[in-house]
Amino acid sequence: MGNIQQSTCSVIPQHMLRHMALHGDVHQRKRAAETLSHTALLTAGRAAFFRGVPHAAAVPHEKQRRIFDAGGETSLPGMLVMTEGGTRSTDIEVREAFDGSGAVYDFFDKVFGRDSIDDRGMQLDSTVHYGVHFDNAMWNGKQMVFGDGDGKLFKRFTSDVAIVGHELAHGITQYTSALKYQGETGALNEHISDASGIMVKQFLLNQSVTDSDWYIGVGLFGPGVHGIAIRSMMHPGTAYDDPILGKDPQPAHMRDYVRTSDDNGGVHINSGILNRAFFLAASRLGPFSWVIAGKIWYETAKFKLRPRSGFQDFANATVITAGEKFGFGGAVQRIVAEAWAKVGLPTPPGLMQAPASGLGRPLAGKTAAIIN
Ligand SMILES: [Zn+2]
Repeated sequence: MGNIQQSTCSVIPQHMLRHMALHGDVHQRKRAAETLSHTALLTAGRAAFFRGVPHAAAVPHEKQRRIFDAGGETSLPGMLVMTEGGTRSTDIEVREAFDGSGAVYDFFDKVFGRDSIDDRGMQLDSTVHYGVHFDNAMWNGKQMVFGDGDGKLFKRFTSDVAIVGHELAHGITQYTSALKYQGETGALNEHISDASGIMVKQFLLNQSVTDSDWYIGVGLFGPGVHGIAIRSMMHPGTAYDDPILGKDPQPAHMRDYVRTSDDNGGVHINSGILNRAFFLAASRLGPFSWVIAGKIWYETAKFKLRPRSGFQDFANATVITAGEKFGFGGAVQRIVAEAWAKVGLPTPPGLMQAPASGLGRPLAGKTAAIIN
């Protein structure tokens, strides 16, 4: 295995927690500070997880799930409480984590023929009841970690399967393009997770592009919060506007790209631009997002990116993939190019024609792939 990137692949971005730490009541401020520090601890642990930790024995194209209960503590993984083929737990978070990771496995297996995160049957481990009122969920490089939420601002993090899909897709990115988690590249990494998360949910519920609400993290907010979800892929920047959590900062067009050192350079912010493009393309290519748009996105992310690819690299690469799969200059390729143009990432005209030589096109981005 190569050099795995180190990153905080958490659901609740730092800007939201920081706003909460400044504007919440005394308990909320304390909890936000704790969540921020635990998130940092888990991040620091990522490198260690990847040093010499062998994978569990791989069983080809068979789901292998394990759910652990941290019992309110912060040591991982906790007590093993549910396994593949074992007795079904009575604990709703345990069941949701089990069913959610199963839905993610099934989606990638049935739609893209992928055998788990590493495409070699990697065991899917999740820990629930992590910490006390922990307001986050994350992929720590090895497993899922779910907090219970504080019950007021956030409810339990296992409840939306799009979140489970988002986090496990970070694992897939580690094993494919190994995109860095910083700036434009990090926002691309976030986008690939959001696009995967929403497709997992749509596939599970058999939702067409018009049935879906295109929200990530819907239902996670407590009853008092002014907001519907963590992010909107249809209308980035409109998911929430709350005195304690702040306002959804996502742009939907390159003209509004946010330059910031916060949030690893705006990884959860500028991903809105790419999310909007995926929504636009999938909506026109329908009826189900994963059939055409999802296939183009997945194959591009798997084969055409490098660890430092940027927005334009990805946009161009999806247009090339669309041409290769569905014909250069054809309707599918034009719709993908038009979606990118609408968010301010127009396609260079040359990409709409088949390459002259049979050598194919180079990978998008600056650094050679280092994983697999
Ligand atoms: Zn993420």
